[in-house]
Amino acid sequence: MGYLFISDLHLSSARPEPLHRFLSFLAGRARKLEALYILGDLFDQWLGDDDITPPHPSIIAGLSDLIRGGTSCRVLQGNHDFLLGDDFQAASGCQLLPDPTRLDVYGTPVLLSHGDHLCTDDMEYQQWRTYSRDPDNQRAFLTLPLEARSAQAAQIRRRSDLSVQLKPQDIMDVNPDAVREALLAHDVRHLVHGHTHRPGIHRLKLDDDAATRIVLGDWYGDEVALWWDRSGYRLGSLAELGLD
Ligand code: MN
Repeated sequence: MGYLFISDLHLSSARPEPLHRFLSFLAGRARKLEALYILGDLFDQWLGDDDITPPHPSIIAGLSDLIRGGTSCRVLQGNHDFLLGDDFQAASGCQLLPDPTRLDVYGTPVLLSHGDHLCTDDMEYQQWRTYSRDPDNQRAFLTLPLEARSAQAAQIRRRSDLSVQLKPQDIMDVNPDAVREALLAHDVRHLVHGHTHRPGIHRLKLDDDAATRIVLGDWYGDEVALWWDRSGYRLGSLAELGLD
């Protein structure tokens, strides 16, 4: 029994390997978990809850089987799947959580986030984030036919890929002040996030206190997940955590 935190799977038919790895995990060792937390970017693209492009149906079926088996699964939206909504919750049985969410993990208060809102040095991205999270803009986008949404998304991605190539690496990481503010605002000493694809455990000073920022890894290579049970936490691949 324990909690597992993962993020940035970016599942799509273009990358069959992580998809199969995740589906076999759901059907296997995930069933021993108390809860699975997916901190954003489960899907590489989610154009709305009517987006049943393969492999979405098989992922939803896998999650639903897991939940029916007694493991709870909670999901945060990432910047690739921020349109996950009510119908996704109903179909999968996953519960969507707001970003950030404060969670009690065996007595330790922990702040969970995808992490993109902490990358405040990337002002161009933050502008896009504000625009794309606006409920009116989302409603307008979701009224378009799926093909039109898909075409728009492809255009946005081409622009974003190009601009990412031109940006210095450090502006796409979290801003230390934004991290400290989030920890203080939610009165926690632990933050778990993904998004940057730079897994690691970082210690930081918070006023006179010590705090810890734990970054999950993506699933392009070996996934980097966080296991947390009564005896503490460990960051590693599913194999290293004894969960493959
Ligand atoms: Mn992301």
